[in-house]
Amino acid sequence: MSSSRKRSSLRSPFILKLALIVVAMVAIFVVDTGTSYEVAAAVFYAVVIVTAAHVLSRRGLVVLCAICVGVTLLSVAITPHGDFRAGLINTGISIAAILMTTYLILKMEAARMAAHDAQAQLMRISRVKSLEGLTTSIAHEVNQPLAAIVASGNACQRWLAQTPPNLEKARSALERILNDAGRASSIIARVRSLTRGEPPHKREFEFNEAVLDVLALSNAEIVRNNIALTTELDPGLAYALADRIQIQQVIGNLVLNAVEAMAEISTQARVMRVSSVAKDHMIVLSVFDSGVGISPDVYEHMFEAFWTTKEEGIGVGLSISRAIIESNGGQLWAESNEHGGAVFRFSVPTILQEGRA
Ligand code: ADP
Repeated sequence: MSSSRKRSSLRSPFILKLALIVVAMVAIFVVDTGTSYEVAAAVFYAVVIVTAAHVLSRRGLVVLCAICVGVTLLSVAITPHGDFRAGLINTGISIAAILMTTYLILKMEAARMAAHDAQAQLMRISRVKSLEGLTTSIAHEVNQPLAAIVASGNACQRWLAQTPPNLEKARSALERILNDAGRASSIIARVRSLTRGEPPHKREFEFNEAVLDVLALSNAEIVRNNIALTTELDPGLAYALADRIQIQQVIGNLVLNAVEAMAEISTQARVMRVSSVAKDHMIVLSVFDSGVGISPDVYEHMFEAFWTTKEEGIGVGLSISRAIIESNGGQLWAESNEHGGAVFRFSVPTILQEGRA
């Protein structure tokens, strides 16, 4: 009994708001029909729609929009006095305001949902223990667009609630929301593409085979950028003992960075060399490129999260790659390539290392 009382007490503000919306609509209809054609009272239906946005679902809002348009047309048909031409123009303006307001509110809701999804994903990523330090900065970085979305959402609501609604300002607030939501999701997509959100599943695997798989996947990008690729893979390597998929994600990221570093230069031949060697019961993989190289100030920051020199870059690739390699028991570092360009190297344990330990 108490739960049904609780449910009914929860529902009563909803019913009250719905009743207010109906009363407001009836009042607008009476004024719109009772006054002459020159009075465009129907434009106030837009305000009703803004108010109803807090109460109704998306479908409910579309139905309400259709009702508002319907009663606006009905009102113009039965208004007894005034200039009919002015009435038609006013009706057109009112209907445009009703439709635009509904459209903007629906878009705003979609943007809010996108931000909500991004936040939920972020929570999942934050649970990964091995990337703990990194997730703090990822959380910070994703929270910035989310906070901006909330601020722009509030501004958008204020512009819509004005009478008449300031649709232009609302539209630009909405555009900011969509941009920020896009930024938040691209950060998360990049993080997710490098981590499966799980600690490493360490297994034995044939290292060179894993490298060749990644290179085959990256081949189209390498060919498209006119890069000459060579491999020097030591055939006598012991089995690697690490998470194969995570290691492949790191290799893919280093190859992609090498491709991007070479895309920026056009003066010399684009050459990429991938080598694997055994060292102290570990395997060391190196990716050499003939790209822009690493200047001292880039070197100082490039492993920091969200540090990038690229216009479209996010700057999490290297920091996540390093965290992945370390959680697999290896190390990742960079050097200048003596022939120009850069070399990125990482080590992974083998079954021999494990046997020794
Ligand atoms: P992003 O690729 O989004 O910028 P990363 O963390 O992968 O993020 O890289 C950070 C920065 O490190 C890059 O913006 C670039 O300045 C530098 N960098 C990475 N790889 C290379 C490379 N192969 N050659 C030169 N600079 C590189």
